[in-house]
Amino acid sequence: MTFKLANVKNRASLVVEGLVFDLEKASNGSFTSNVMDAIARHKDLHSISESLIAESADAKLAEAELGAPVPRPRNSFGVGLNYRDHAAESSMELPPVPVVFSKYPSCINGPFNAIDLRTTSADYEAELVVVIGSTTRDIKPNRAWEHVAGIMCGQDISDRGLQMAAKPPHFGLGKSRDTYGPTGPLLVSTDVVANPDDLKITCSVNGEVRQADRTSNMVFDVSYLISYLSNVLTLEAGDIIFTGTPAGVGAANGRFLKPGDEVVTEIEGIGLMRNNCI
Ligand code: ZN
Repeated sequence: MTFKLANVKNRASLVVEGLVFDLEKASNGSFTSNVMDAIARHKDLHSISESLIAESADAKLAEAELGAPVPRPRNSFGVGLNYRDHAAESSMELPPVPVVFSKYPSCINGPFNAIDLRTTSADYEAELVVVIGSTTRDIKPNRAWEHVAGIMCGQDISDRGLQMAAKPPHFGLGKSRDTYGPTGPLLVSTDVVANPDDLKITCSVNGEVRQADRTSNMVFDVSYLISYLSNVLTLEAGDIIFTGTPAGVGAANGRFLKPGDEVVTEIEGIGLMRNNCI
């Protein structure tokens, strides 16, 4: 049985067929309302989801009420140049090892919240975001998915001017302005999709498709990234990994985000986010 975990008005909630169930209530108090605690106990969410009946739902799913499914990750990693075509459009060679940076957790934003640009050089980057499910280290690639709580859409919004202002460029700050990390709409268990290593991912701006690729085209796949990171540091439940973006970013042709733009990020089987730029 799958689960879909939502952050509804800062309360952990399960979603089944468009209906919202408050987790504390649905679990008879065995869970609290804390979303981060729910992620750490994600294995129990399958059976609770299975037991839910429509008559006991608390509400219908409402986009405006959804916050980030992982509101306070301890660590938030980004991976640069992880799709071949994006490395090519950036005139960069494929990296020999993953290019990892920190997307500071304070930038994490909800799936339908505004992006506060604060610059004329803000760019979109649609990404698959992987959420770690347990405290662990030294993970072998062939066991990596076992340590994943679930997956969601992400936008690695990037201030290119700030990113490139330093020599060499600094990724962390340029990608971590307040509101620059939309994630969601829900955290879904990996069994929601047939193959979590091969998902269609798209980004459109004002209805125009700018990015369209499949996650199977990553240079370093999810298993490799988790293994690589876990050999450096201990991963904890709720740590998140932005796994890189496909080709089509605005920087490739100078089409940066402007106030009033609507950014839609969608991953097959997971859902979509809609963020307006202010
Ligand atoms: Zn990125």
